[in-house]
Amino acid sequence: MAPPAVPASRITVRNAAPPAADGDYVLYWCTANRRASWNFALDRAIEWAMQLRRPLLVLEALRADYPWASARLHRFVLQGMAANRAAFAGKPVLYRPYVEPRAGAGKGLLAALARRACVVVGDDWPCFFLPAMTAAAARAIHVRFELVDGNGMVPLSASSAAFPTAHLFRRFWQKELAREFPAFPRPDPWKGVTLPLAGPLPATVNSRWPEADESLLTAQPGALAAFRFRHAVAPAPFAGGAPAARAALLEFVRQRLPRYADERSDPDHDAVSGLSPWLHFGHLSAHEVFAEVARREGWKRGDLGAPNGGSKEGFWQMSAAAEAFLDQLVGWRELGFHFCRHRPDYADFESLPDWAKATLRAHALDPRLHTYSLEQFAAARTHDPVWNAAQRELVATGRMHNYLRMLWGKKIVEWTQSPQQAAAFMIELNNRYAVDGRDPNSYSGIFWTLGRFDRPWAPERDVFGVIRWMSSANTLKKLRMKAYLARWGGDEGPGKGPFVRD
Ligand SMILES: Cc1cc2nc3c(=O)[nH]c(=O)nc-3n(C[C@H](O)[C@H](O)[C@H](O)COP(=O)(O)OP(=O)(O)OC[C@H]3O[C@@H](n4cnc5c(N)ncnc54)[C@H](O)[C@@H]3O)c2cc1C
Repeated sequence: MAPPAVPASRITVRNAAPPAADGDYVLYWCTANRRASWNFALDRAIEWAMQLRRPLLVLEALRADYPWASARLHRFVLQGMAANRAAFAGKPVLYRPYVEPRAGAGKGLLAALARRACVVVGDDWPCFFLPAMTAAAARAIHVRFELVDGNGMVPLSASSAAFPTAHLFRRFWQKELAREFPAFPRPDPWKGVTLPLAGPLPATVNSRWPEADESLLTAQPGALAAFRFRHAVAPAPFAGGAPAARAALLEFVRQRLPRYADERSDPDHDAVSGLSPWLHFGHLSAHEVFAEVARREGWKRGDLGAPNGGSKEGFWQMSAAAEAFLDQLVGWRELGFHFCRHRPDYADFESLPDWAKATLRAHALDPRLHTYSLEQFAAARTHDPVWNAAQRELVATGRMHNYLRMLWGKKIVEWTQSPQQAAAFMIELNNRYAVDGRDPNSYSGIFWTLGRFDRPWAPERDVFGVIRWMSSANTLKKLRMKAYLARWGGDEGPGKGPFVRD
């Protein structure tokens, strides 16, 4: 029996040509959902290959010159490609990893492969350079070309505009999910699938765009040294790829999820999932995360509650911890994806709500007590030890604790010459160092510090106006972070010198 079809709500046809009758294969061009299971785009490509009785070719490529390219990001993606190669081995698919040795070398590869395809299936991702890249591909691909949205539980096609707050978005998605609980991508995409095997690619393709070799895919230091990117942003202390993601997911769900609602804000309690780097690179699917949480909760689709007007609790009918986690995973994460889909200006000051722009403009000329250059911020050389600790963690590991990320952003707003400069500095620092950067949620978080998805807060203050303000002193009072500061506080840790003034 053929596997269930990918829902039409996930598919955007970019070139409506009929499948090429004389094509050699179906091509899946994997750019965002970089995984070999729980992947609607892969499922769709398999569906076409079965229908047309053609082999399946998967192209996963890595450019040399994407913005903020670094040893950290490259190694993470390469590890994901090595894992995909292993996952596709022995399956009825030809997996082709390609790593551009220098900027521009990969130009023409997709068009060359697409010329011999019946159908091309790609990933639909609403942020960074990907929408422009797929738009350019649509002009160059002359066979049927579809983009498939595997981003989250609520298909991007379900919304018709960006939502101004998480509450309004929650009201929307609760109704959507209650109306029809969504289909999931397949955990085992090969079940019930038989396909002819692809022959070798033409010699001209192989010689001009050779397959990535072992030393590259295992990101050997020697192989990385040849690239002209930011080597100072060193590899993260955790591995990319679906197996590492799955291990992190299982560990979180078993050991930390029960504490999530109560302890997620405390850096010392380590109650968060840490899954965002893998979610960002598509090594992990939000559906898989949801399924694992549901399994642990003993939850079934029929248990779903009724829409409750956008309240955070009670909709899923799971434990308080699971509901709090799913509010982040589905609510906040997907809010950003839908925003980027409808607002191509998502990275601009002008995309802020009118009240936020007005109050920030009214306070544009307020004196700033401290201002720092981008280099001072990058080097964690502010007067504030808590801020510096968070920045050190980000630089060293590619992560920053969620609560501190909010404080980190708010202080950049306070210590720059304008909100526009604050946004530019945050985008640069976040996207340069964070493994999960360059994501819809990067822009949700950064612009949240400037009022997006938020409301006015009294009292009106210098610089911020009625934008919500945060302080390091309050953070220290509120959170447990002694161990965190001992680890990341540098010479400024508690007992090592003067401590926190706001
Ligand atoms: C200034 C600033 C910058 C940020 N930059 C990024 C970024 O580059 N990439 C990124 O993924 N997130 C970003 N966030 C949002 C949030 O901080 C991270 O998603 C979260 O800390 C990731 O850690 P986790 O996986 O342990 O999250 P958990 O608490 O375990 O949550 C599970 C998942 O839910 C989603 N999520 C959690 N909190 C948020 C949130 N506030 N907004 C949107 N989605 C959320 C993430 O996908 C996360 O992996 C930023 C927030 C701020 C304030």
